[in-house]
Amino acid sequence: HVAQSHQAEVEQHALTAFDKVQTAQLDPQQPDLQPDPQQGLESTDVSSWIPDTSHLSEEQLTQGPGRVLLYYCYCDVSDPHVVCAWQKALCQKLHLTGKVRVASEGINGTVGGTFAATELYIQTMCFSPVFRMHQDDFKTSAGGAECFTELKVGVYREIVPMGVDPQVVSYRLAGTHLEPEDFHREVEELLATDQTNRDTIILDCRNFYESKIGQFNQCLAPNIRKFSYFPDYVEQNLEVFREKRVLMYCTGGIRCERASAYLKSKEVCKEVLQLRGGIHRYLEQFPQGHYRGKLFVFDERYAISSNDDVISDCRYCGSPWDQYELCSSASCRQLVLSCPSCRREGQTACCLTCQSKDPSPHQHREECECTMGRSRIPLEL
Ligand SMILES: [Zn+2]
Ligand SMILES: [Zn+2]
Ligand SMILES: [Zn+2]
Repeated sequence: HVAQSHQAEVEQHALTAFDKVQTAQLDPQQPDLQPDPQQGLESTDVSSWIPDTSHLSEEQLTQGPGRVLLYYCYCDVSDPHVVCAWQKALCQKLHLTGKVRVASEGINGTVGGTFAATELYIQTMCFSPVFRMHQDDFKTSAGGAECFTELKVGVYREIVPMGVDPQVVSYRLAGTHLEPEDFHREVEELLATDQTNRDTIILDCRNFYESKIGQFNQCLAPNIRKFSYFPDYVEQNLEVFREKRVLMYCTGGIRCERASAYLKSKEVCKEVLQLRGGIHRYLEQFPQGHYRGKLFVFDERYAISSNDDVISDCRYCGSPWDQYELCSSASCRQLVLSCPSCRREGQTACCLTCQSKDPSPHQHREECECTMGRSRIPLEL
């Protein structure tokens, strides 16, 4: 009967977590899966996956230097809601902040905390019977819990929102992985080849504001605002990719897994390759390599750097500048590149509309004058 009552507790936990996720509406475009409290719970004791922290002081879990972990794992998750409840309890116990997405196709997280807390998190994920991850699957960078305003853990249809059913385009059909050194060599060869004789394209599959401040030399960087526009971008630019070898990359590799699968499914490319571990891993081996500028990250740091190049400009005066800040209009969520001297002159918004007035201070808008003007799916031909 102990197991019975415990099961009810776990079930309640899972449902409460689900309720919170639903009311928070983390991602309105992605319908959450319906919870199925009957499935999987009998055999799953979530509490046994929560590590003991009694050997650590409160201070070790909350104070001092820390880091941010970035990871993903594509695998079959039979009950995402149980995993979600477990992740939530785990992160709370370790005082981690950040974002964790769980789906039937796997898990994707970026979490910040102290060194001891993140270490224990990694160990827990490596021992977990669901994921069986390896230390190498975690990319780390300087930071901590302060890099995120909160902890968000939720169940989604996809672990990264491409907007295509994972049953239709699965990560299992992804392009060939290239290790950073092989990717580097490929880029070297490409750069040494005359533009007109190239059969290879380096494709950045991130959003425009990411590639704007850092990218591989001579890559094709789509001017898209969201990853969910990537499939339409490919669809409408198929001729660009016809008979080409495509070297694809993203931040940590997660988007390429499915973006390359999507591109492959169009059957126009000669070959589709992807950078294993993304820019993150590449920069560890080649900090002064062919990736120039900063690496955009989705937390309060906005960017991490490995070389001093500045490849973007201040939106107002055009001088080199690559440190993003949020638009000063309370209702706007656009990132702005405005240099210190332009800021001092009051240029702190993304556009004139935002600068002059605040039309709807209680509503967060996704689009703004300056982004609505851009074509949703840019044509390269
Ligand atoms: Zn300026
Ligand atoms: Zn704005
Ligand atoms: Zn604007």
